[in-house]
Amino acid sequence: MAGNVQTFPPVERQLIVFDFDWSLADQDSDRWVLEVLAPKLRKKMKELKKEVQWTDLVASCMQELHEQGGTREQIEDALRLMPVHPAMIRGVSSLKSRGKTTFFLLSNANIIYITTVLKSKGLESLFHEIVTNPAEWDPSGLLKVRRRIDPSGPQHNCKVGCSPNMCKGEELDAFLKRHGSEFDRIVYVGDGSNDLCPVLRLRKQDVVFCRRYRGLYSLIKPYEEEGRLPCGVQYWTGAWEAEALLDEL
Ligand SMILES: [Mg+2]
Ligand SMILES: [Zn+2]
Repeated sequence: MAGNVQTFPPVERQLIVFDFDWSLADQDSDRWVLEVLAPKLRKKMKELKKEVQWTDLVASCMQELHEQGGTREQIEDALRLMPVHPAMIRGVSSLKSRGKTTFFLLSNANIIYITTVLKSKGLESLFHEIVTNPAEWDPSGLLKVRRRIDPSGPQHNCKVGCSPNMCKGEELDAFLKRHGSEFDRIVYVGDGSNDLCPVLRLRKQDVVFCRRYRGLYSLIKPYEEEGRLPCGVQYWTGAWEAEALLDEL
């Protein structure tokens, strides 16, 4: 499969949906910030991952970092250092410049992390819409991160295995409803296990660009092998391979 880039049929209007961590970006933002600023909190995050809902865990790590004297400037600096591969930046910028493609970011990170990283790479106007967890700086410099779906209200009904804070499949459907338009093709770029749900809602003319050797890859393989995947699939490992795929769209 490697290096075997297919050409995709030409379309009038297409939607490209990007996951953020390890898909558009070449790192995981929640972990990265703590790896740069507070390795002990990074370790704690690893230890508590199974017990505490991820968004809540990020929020409590931010609280602790703040109590230890971590500042907004330090967090922003760490985010500005976070790798987004130049090949990925080239690929998305070129696709955007060719017109006809709507860019939608669907992520389990948070809006402050995402917009800070995008801005640092000159990508602040890439996406037409970003759906993620809300976050804001309070005046003391604490980053307050919340789940997109408030834990005290109605929860999503996803049976595929999305995290309680957000069902990416429901969010993709809601986006398509909001925009009320038919896209000739949807391209989904993802790597994580929570990207499976939206991928299973794609159509046969759509395609997933799945990053190898991560959560989505192991989940999608049996679907592909048993012919149960509703869409096409292309695999990539390095961002340069994703760029080659983007260049074919
Ligand atoms: Mg990801
Ligand atoms: Zn879901």
